Amino acid sequence: MNKFGGYAYIPGTGPKDKKCRDCAHFWEKGVKYRCQKWKQLAGKGCAISACPPINKYEAACKYFDEPEAPAQRMSGRGLEVR
Ligand code: SF4
Repeated sequence: MNKFGGYAYIPGTGPKDKKCRDCAHFWEKGVKYRCQKWKQLAGKGCAISACPPINKYEAACKYFDEPEAPAQRMSGRGLEVR
């Protein structure tokens, strides 16, 4: 378990112009937002929706990864194109 809530690492330690919502590890379903990297690092076997919530506007952390296609993100409904 880390000390950063549901964030994989300290917010603001990633690219300056990026937010969690821009990250490949960002997950959302409705108004629920989670970090899939946090789940991976924590070794949790539970559902992603049961992980601690994050703020989608939080500054990115050092684990930030660009989505393969910038307009695509995983959500509770699967791969979403925006
Ligand atoms: S920048 Fe990405 S890896 Fe880091 S806390 Fe936000 S969603 Fe998770």
